Amino acid sequence: MPNTKGPDQIFQRALAEQEILLPKCDDCGAFHFFPRVLCPHCHGTAISWQRASGKGRVHTTTVVRRKLERGGDYNVCMVELEEGVRMMSRVEGIAPGDVVIDMAVTAFVGEAEDAPIVLFRPAKV
Ligand SMILES: [Zn+2]
Repeated sequence: MPNTKGPDQIFQRALAEQEILLPKCDDCGAFHFFPRVLCPHCHGTAISWQRASGKGRVHTTTVVRRKLERGGDYNVCMVELEEGVRMMSRVEGIAPGDVVIDMAVTAFVGEAEDAPIVLFRPAKV
């Protein structure tokens, strides 16, 4: 369960308003994800939030097999955002097996089990 206070909640609240915010350390300038209280790079506590550009590339991708009556196969991937952080997510709007490593993708806020989550779609060329 996510914290009721703290960085998780800030992230989730922004998502609920269709905004993807990323924690950025004011001490070393690096982004990180998941949201944490301490910067994982320098252990600094001066964390501020910046809107993600939404641009990323598929880092790893897998097709998870699922029976058709349960929704069919789906994609699980790790996307590396332009900001240098990686998110576990999936690419929608394309067949799960057509997602390939290094493909350019764009983040959007979707919904899973009534909660907003970050999803990706193929970037427009
Ligand atoms: Zn830092």
